[in-house]
Amino acid sequence: MSSVELMQEGKRQMQICNACRYCEGYCAVWHAIEYRREFTDKDMTYLANLCHDCRECVFACPFTTPHEFGVNPPKLFAELRQDSYKKYAIASPLGKLNFWATTVIALVVFFIIALVLNGSTNVFSKHLGTGGFYAVLSEGLLTILFSIFGLWMAFGWVFGAFRYWRDLKSEQTQPVMARDVVKAIKDAFALRYLGKETPDSEVPMQRRVLHHFVFYGFLLDFASTTLGAFYSHVLHIQAPYPVMSPVVILGILGGIGILIGTSGFIYVKTRDDRSATDEGAVKSGRAFSISLLLVAATGFLLLALRDTAAMGTILVIHLSTVASLFLTAPYTKFTHFVYRLMALVRYAQEERTHGVSAAPKPVAHSSHQFRKIVDMDSANQ
Ligand code: SF4
Ligand code: SF4
Repeated sequence: MSSVELMQEGKRQMQICNACRYCEGYCAVWHAIEYRREFTDKDMTYLANLCHDCRECVFACPFTTPHEFGVNPPKLFAELRQDSYKKYAIASPLGKLNFWATTVIALVVFFIIALVLNGSTNVFSKHLGTGGFYAVLSEGLLTILFSIFGLWMAFGWVFGAFRYWRDLKSEQTQPVMARDVVKAIKDAFALRYLGKETPDSEVPMQRRVLHHFVFYGFLLDFASTTLGAFYSHVLHIQAPYPVMSPVVILGILGGIGILIGTSGFIYVKTRDDRSATDEGAVKSGRAFSISLLLVAATGFLLLALRDTAAMGTILVIHLSTVASLFLTAPYTKFTHFVYRLMALVRYAQEERTHGVSAAPKPVAHSSHQFRKIVDMDSANQ
């Protein structure tokens, strides 16, 4: 389906949902559609990024396929989200490369640099004690390279956020206030709309727990890297650090969180109901999980083998996965938090403006009860 056809299809489905409104207790999307009579392209991109993909609405829906209305909001929103990531991302050749291609390129480049600057004896020998890593790739070079990669990632996200927000803002009549931003950040950190409104349902709760593992695992690893930079550049204590140092402890805890979360996601997504999602979104989510898993797994391998002659090789592999994650971040599933956060800010502003202060309430029936009722009705006809 082309982007234009997808938008038309989305607007058709939203008109049906707005007339039905059965799902209004499930998540913020259903309040947001009630604030509208007509849907623009920008509205559709907003709703798509407000959806947390819990799938509860389609499991409850009597108007999904084989019904002639063919309503399927999670699939529709998944396709629209993929389109929005492409539409707002910064244009660069990196957008055409995936994680694997970038990792291989980074691997070759890092190996060449290490061999040319430090020689094979240094790269393939054992280095004990502080400063061991820098015998393979110098501290100054790593600082410059990873600062550039980090700045690129942040710039890509800010660029996408700015363009997306410009579109969201163009249809707003009221200004955004600081409290809208605070509420959106709180909702994003708590994953408010993923599973909390439907606590009887297993699938969203599973995804919620796994998402927390990945997200907080990533934050712990980020804290570990930041603390490592402080040790290195302010305290002048070079890596590798003792296992019981705060840098390594934070890194281990974060790595465990990422390993549990990403492998859990890869497993549960093999059992997903594919009719409720988009194949492109599944592939993109799986590729992102694998990339994070590889970063964490190679980090643990480096920790385990850092006192052996394999350290140089593992270090180069680990750094290549991290570099690739950073360089492709504006184009992968990694970018989803930027658009989700923007959509949540817009929703907080709309909720305040329209005077809906209460959180969406769970509907009387769980989706599974509702599905049973619909099935029984059909059987009795
Ligand atoms: S039950 Fe179906 S048509 Fe009704 S609001 Fe939910 S998804 Fe839309
Ligand atoms: S899939 Fe879940 S989060 Fe998305 S619109 Fe449906 S109920 Fe809301």
